[in-house]
Amino acid sequence: MTRDADPATILMVEDDAGLATALEATLKAAGYRPVRARTAAEGLRWFNHYSPDLVLLDLGLPDRDGLSLIGDIRAKGSTPIIVLSAREAEAVKVQALDLGADDYVQKPFGIEELLARVRAGLRHGVQTRGSAPVVQAGELTIDLGLRLVTRAGVAVKLSSKEYDLLAELAVNLGRTLSHKQLLLAVWGSERADIQYLRVYVGQLRQKLGVDAIVSDAGVGYALASGG
Ligand code: CA
Repeated sequence: MTRDADPATILMVEDDAGLATALEATLKAAGYRPVRARTAAEGLRWFNHYSPDLVLLDLGLPDRDGLSLIGDIRAKGSTPIIVLSAREAEAVKVQALDLGADDYVQKPFGIEELLARVRAGLRHGVQTRGSAPVVQAGELTIDLGLRLVTRAGVAVKLSSKEYDLLAELAVNLGRTLSHKQLLLAVWGSERADIQYLRVYVGQLRQKLGVDAIVSDAGVGYALASGG
């Protein structure tokens, strides 16, 4: 078996046995290799042992809050983390993203939705490792090497800040970045005025199309992958 044919290993940290069993069957059927952990401690142990390609992380775990595991995993690298949680509060979602989670799926979720997010997470993992300098998002092409943006083949003129914001969204294509993450990346401080962000997103939408940037109200923004 060649290395390319190896199934992606997905670590599930989930204490709900019924849900974990269903997830395991779904992931296996989709060609992945699931590994199960019921507690945060077990999750960290299996993370170190299996070096998974992606982590599905429940927040309500019996030993400690799943949020605290995000930092432990991030200390070891950029493995994509998808948080699965029944917690509805935007604050928790923002916190998970700020701590370094890649995505957040609210329970209850559909299997197809989850598999789509897993595929996106695994793609993102490959991109951050290989670092693609050109990002394609629908009719937009963002050449991160040349700092050149085209829409349906026509060059789009952007100010330097507009470009910086777009580039940050582009390297994280399809992922929601929190307001704090964007302010820090583009304005150098997470305490910068959130109003700047609204203004620049508005300008980008005028130039790139209203659907180019998706907002997650109260949480942040993502560049639509246009697929
Ligand atoms: Ca739980």
